[in-house]
Amino acid sequence: MSRIRLLPEIVASQVAAGEVVERPASVVKELIENSVDAGARKIDILIRRGGISLVRVIDDGCGLDRDDALLSLERHATSKIRSAADLHAITTLGFRGEALPSIASVSRFRLTTREADAAAGTEIIVNGGKIDIVRDGGEAPGTQVEVRSLFYNLPARRKFLRSENTESRNIEHQLHLQAIGHPEIAFTFVRDDRLVFQLPRAANLHDRIRDLHGNKLLERLLPLTSAGLGKIDIGGLIGQAGVSRQTRAQQLVFVNGRAIESPVVTAGLREGYHTALMKGQFPVTFLFLNLNPASVDVNVHPAKREVRFRDPTGVREAVVNSIRRALEGGRGDWQEKFRAPNVSQSSALPIGRTRPIEAQPAFAQQTIETLPRFAPSGFEGPRKLPDTTLAQERIDKKIPQQFQIIGVLNKLYVLMENADGLVLVDQHAAHERILFEELRRRMEDQGVLSQKLLLPQTFDLSLRDAEWVERNMSILQKMGIGIEGFGPNTFKIDCLPAFLKTSDPVSFMQRVVDDLKSASNSSSPLRLGEETIAKTVCRHAVKANDPLRYLEVEKLIQDLLGCDLPYCCPHGRPTMIQISLAELEKKFGRRSAIQT
Ligand code: ADP
Ligand code: MG
Repeated sequence: MSRIRLLPEIVASQVAAGEVVERPASVVKELIENSVDAGARKIDILIRRGGISLVRVIDDGCGLDRDDALLSLERHATSKIRSAADLHAITTLGFRGEALPSIASVSRFRLTTREADAAAGTEIIVNGGKIDIVRDGGEAPGTQVEVRSLFYNLPARRKFLRSENTESRNIEHQLHLQAIGHPEIAFTFVRDDRLVFQLPRAANLHDRIRDLHGNKLLERLLPLTSAGLGKIDIGGLIGQAGVSRQTRAQQLVFVNGRAIESPVVTAGLREGYHTALMKGQFPVTFLFLNLNPASVDVNVHPAKREVRFRDPTGVREAVVNSIRRALEGGRGDWQEKFRAPNVSQSSALPIGRTRPIEAQPAFAQQTIETLPRFAPSGFEGPRKLPDTTLAQERIDKKIPQQFQIIGVLNKLYVLMENADGLVLVDQHAAHERILFEELRRRMEDQGVLSQKLLLPQTFDLSLRDAEWVERNMSILQKMGIGIEGFGPNTFKIDCLPAFLKTSDPVSFMQRVVDDLKSASNSSSPLRLGEETIAKTVCRHAVKANDPLRYLEVEKLIQDLLGCDLPYCCPHGRPTMIQISLAELEKKFGRRSAIQT
């Protein structure tokens, strides 16, 4: 008895739909991609009830004549490729010829379409894969697809849908991807009869991001370039260090205009951001990779979400390099912000300018309130600026008036004034960043200064810790930690890096080892990179609540601004926070007072 049977066409389409149409957002994606491929300049999307009850996509693209419109609903019917050879270099978003028949087989489907010069268009109504009506129709040139009651004939699939809100959010995410991927196309999005956004055609990505996300995000983005490295062209914008999200939702990656998810690119992003990103956080990226279509295979995933690169290593390296360059280039912007405030207009007379620097007591010994800054005007007559002392001159030369230090709060936060308002610097985080970069630089030139201990010390470690130290001994030594074996599980330290001022080297080592063990969690505690170890050493090198003197604070800020990535510590926490004058004015209610 023969048991194998060809599936009826409709069932075959429903099987394919299982892969292509997972949820309403996949319908939206496929329809928009078709509109983009059709050369649309404007795409309107309307959904109801999370797209479950209705998805409608209208475009002003090339449209279809009646024969093609009917053909487009057949499986494996496509205008985009003709032969297997075309698969090697795909330049359109679609190519599988599966989306329309798949969607039509699991919904109540209506297609109306008209070519620009045609006298009349075509309307086709399909229910659950069966063509019910074909007639003249179609208003403006272009194509309109309506998908109602998704999965009405597959109750099992319908049950897998999430709440309407969740499905709406998925759709909105999809729309963001498409809108960012195609700034040259105007998009409107209406959800349950409410206009969610209306994006005009934009000249470039920059404008599109502003229209979609506002200036606030835009101001915190840095441009990416590939500087003609190899065959991979990289462009787009990425968040500067410290700009991150708890999810991947704003980590957008496009390959030849197609939004994709790629472990290779994700790895490159993580490596490129490296210390600029807190653990567990994700960067904000609008990354565009353009490469020869022949060197990327998009025919990997039914929903075309993943791609395979012919040269994954090259792609990863290109991503890492461009991210690093952008982040380091972004430094200039920040430094630019450290222009001095306009002193004559400033209400706070900075201490550095009212007295010779040498006369300043350690900040930490005073509270901010006691610092002599707010001389009530009229009490003492006009203030006399002090004679220019040598110290003053030296400082002016060192820091070209980039900032004014106001004081230190709680022995930890340096308060500064710049042109935008108030800047708070976390002294510890800053110190860690400085030490880390210094250490890394010196390790690269094999030149970490180390200092002999007066008395070498020995200490014992647990078997596991001892094993760890053994394995990482050469890295520790490279960092200027003079450590060697001294019997089973016993070690001797006889020197420490010069920057490390500790009176108790043994407990220092113990803390570093403990911290590294917990940082590396269980995965592979024995193999830690140089960088991780350097970060940890720096963290423990910074002493808690160290009261700094004025000159030390100033040096700290200066060193920080000289770092490659000054705005976050090696663990990705911010080193500085800007509170703008506008924000202060808002908090004090001055904004509205000025307006009235
Ligand atoms: P694919 O996009 O992979 O070719 P689809 O099933 O999505 O497969 O679409 C089938 C064909 O229908 C496309 O190749 C295209 O020629 C045509 N088509 C679909 N949507 C549109 C549209 N919005 N405008 C013009 N033509 C379209
Ligand atoms: Mg398609």
